[in-house]
Amino acid sequence: MAEMVTVVGGGFAGVEACWALAQRGHKVRLFEMRPVKMTPAHQTDLLSELVCSNSFKSNDGASPAGLLKNEMRALGSLVLPCAEKASVPGGAALCVDRNIYAKLVTEAIESHELIELVRREFTPSDAEELLAKGESLILATGPLTSEGLGKWLAGKTGNEHLYFYDAVSPSVDASTINMDVVFAQSRYDKGEGDDYLNCPFNKEEYDAFVEALVAAERVPLKDFEKPKYFEGCKPIEEIASKGHDSLRYGNFKPVGLRDPRTGHRPWAAIQLRPENREKTLYSLVASQNRLKWGVQKDVLHMIPGLEEAEFVRLGVIHRNTYIEAPTVLNENLEFKNTPGLYVAGQMSGVEGYIDSAAMGQYVGFRLAAKLEGKDVAAPPRLSAFGSLLSHLQDPIEREFAPMNINWGLLPDPTVPFKGKAERRALKVEAAKAAFADWLETVPS
Ligand SMILES: Cc1cc2nc3c(=O)[nH]c(=O)nc-3n(C[C@H](O)[C@H](O)[C@H](O)COP(=O)(O)OP(=O)(O)OC[C@H]3O[C@@H](n4cnc5c(N)ncnc54)[C@H](O)[C@@H]3O)c2cc1C
Repeated sequence: MAEMVTVVGGGFAGVEACWALAQRGHKVRLFEMRPVKMTPAHQTDLLSELVCSNSFKSNDGASPAGLLKNEMRALGSLVLPCAEKASVPGGAALCVDRNIYAKLVTEAIESHELIELVRREFTPSDAEELLAKGESLILATGPLTSEGLGKWLAGKTGNEHLYFYDAVSPSVDASTINMDVVFAQSRYDKGEGDDYLNCPFNKEEYDAFVEALVAAERVPLKDFEKPKYFEGCKPIEEIASKGHDSLRYGNFKPVGLRDPRTGHRPWAAIQLRPENREKTLYSLVASQNRLKWGVQKDVLHMIPGLEEAEFVRLGVIHRNTYIEAPTVLNENLEFKNTPGLYVAGQMSGVEGYIDSAAMGQYVGFRLAAKLEGKDVAAPPRLSAFGSLLSHLQDPIEREFAPMNINWGLLPDPTVPFKGKAERRALKVEAAKAAFADWLETVPS
């Protein structure tokens, strides 16, 4: 008899993982704790509920988000056809009527003959029992994973590899940094080569930046986002509010640096650290903040050298359970130390409805192939799926944080310099070609 796979969490990733398995003939049991136990953000008992915006981002196949959607459609996504049936006008974005959408997904899962839906909280003892029997288990419990399971996961990963909060610094597309201003140097030239880039402030620039930072509107804390978090990792606007020079003596201290343009130490400096081996993305070191996104971009554009920069991720601080995937998971998103235990969705280190769904689909698809004894290569690095996976597997030392598909994650074309639009068009073409070639190799 075919092996039963258990999926936990009926959100974006969980339903896609179930669908990918069941459509390939595998029996699946899906645990969803709502409505028996609610999360602090979900409002209904529907599967794949949207907890906030009703947008699935761009549907334009020439954008990273659109590219990912096309790859998901080619692999037989459940959520995208439902979203299309429930769509409402949203310009280039795929926007949905959230109730119609979630009802369509729920009906599809409930009526699938190979899927059994169980409405209760999945507990650590359930997990231990299944793993002891050698059954496959996919955890897709999302950013608001229930407390018991979260603690169990912390034990499995080692506490330091599971996060309960995001304290994410903004990240920038390397090709949009002004290198006439920003310089590569490690503090005291300590031999880290050009790993770090530095955005040097003079006094006037620093004063204006701090003033704007302190005045900027902040995202209010939700009830379930306990402020105890801030003891470990304070947002920069809070630090700046305590004293005008505190960032200059703390997070943005310029010690050991010399600006090649002036030959002097800058008044303050924000360091940029590579986010991937290819150095197409950099994060702003120690720049976690809770500023509202519109105003945050305006403030960040005041940083010398980042005036025209494109931020692929903005700073956030919020409750979010996720695993340090590059340390803990293999390329199938399976625990290195616990074969048979998989993680899908936001918990694996991606972010957003569609990116989470994609990683659910990926895990379901890989597991189905494994159960069938089929040898399937991972999606190619050039594709959108491959780019998300490279974020989850890149071993470069960094503050690992969830990310969604973006231009910086798609690898740069190896051609002499061309304008931004041309390079992006080349990225899209390369992604499409590589994915199509890979799809040919996937057994039906
Ligand atoms: C407040 C908030 C606002 C957000 N706003 C946006 C936005 O505007 N746009 C966007 O793209 N993304 C947004 N996100 C992120 C988005 O919600 C996630 O990326 C996405 O839902 C993750 O999908 P998932 O399947 O991994 O988790 P989820 O969709 O959260 O699904 C996880 C499911 O697991 C269930 N569950 C948890 N623990 C257990 C357990 N022990 N047993 C059984 N079931 C369990 C939960 O009830 C839930 O249904 C937001 C997140 C939050 C928290």
